[in-house]
Amino acid sequence: MHIAVMGGHVSATHIASLSCTNSSMFFKLNAFSRVKMWLPLIPISMFILGDDRILPLLETSKLSWRHHLLKLIARFIPRYERCTCNECEVFSGMFGNTFWHENITPTMHQWLNKQSSTRLPMAAFPHLRKICNSGFIVDSNGCNSYLIHPERMAVPTLYISGGRCLLVTPQTSFLAHKYMKLHQPGFRHERVVVEGFGHSDLLIGEKSYKKVFPHILSHIGLAEQGKIHTRVNKCSKEALDWEADQHYEGSFGQFGTWFSPFVVVLLFLMLLALLLVLFL
Ligand SMILES: [Zn+2]
Repeated sequence: MHIAVMGGHVSATHIASLSCTNSSMFFKLNAFSRVKMWLPLIPISMFILGDDRILPLLETSKLSWRHHLLKLIARFIPRYERCTCNECEVFSGMFGNTFWHENITPTMHQWLNKQSSTRLPMAAFPHLRKICNSGFIVDSNGCNSYLIHPERMAVPTLYISGGRCLLVTPQTSFLAHKYMKLHQPGFRHERVVVEGFGHSDLLIGEKSYKKVFPHILSHIGLAEQGKIHTRVNKCSKEALDWEADQHYEGSFGQFGTWFSPFVVVLLFLMLLALLLVLFL
């Protein structure tokens, strides 16, 4: 969405308000995701995939040897939570856990893995890696084509992060909130960190209806009433207040994650072993 608007492809005049969960113009990864993105796992995956870059996830799918090999490797990639569902295991290996299992119902888990996410298009992964390693949205060449256009983001915004982070940290919404207040001070900008939630469980969680959706409904409701502007206090220094995020800083220790440093080292050693198997 931010690439569409800040890239000039969609005009903000067509948007009443913007509510984002765990995504923004910034991509601040947790330590585990950072290590995964830094390692050449995605280039190796694309090499294995060849021309057919859509990975079938269903256990019953007919697979080429390339897809077989990639799914086999995906199962060995460390992640926060293991699962008894084969499709979930492969998806989490490729992408990382996107939700905390205890936050979603078995019915939702079944629907996700058996009906909704049955194929994983991977053609955009190299671009996503450039964005993740940059820490903010860049174009497919890795150039800063979007953040230089804050004037295109003339909309009220709500940024929501999960406090029990997966994939990205709440800094993703913290920086976006500050960026918007600095560059679009005339519009209403809000930010919420919801404790206990990770990534996609913010929207599909069993308790999302009472812990997350009220924030979104309130934001949309105010936009519908035309309350999109905020009174600008020219003497306010709030927009320049880039100090540490009280919601997040210091909560996860030196490695910025619950993930054991031992497992991060193990991941690195596994990659070395994989490289040896592939190229020797
Ligand atoms: Zn699962």
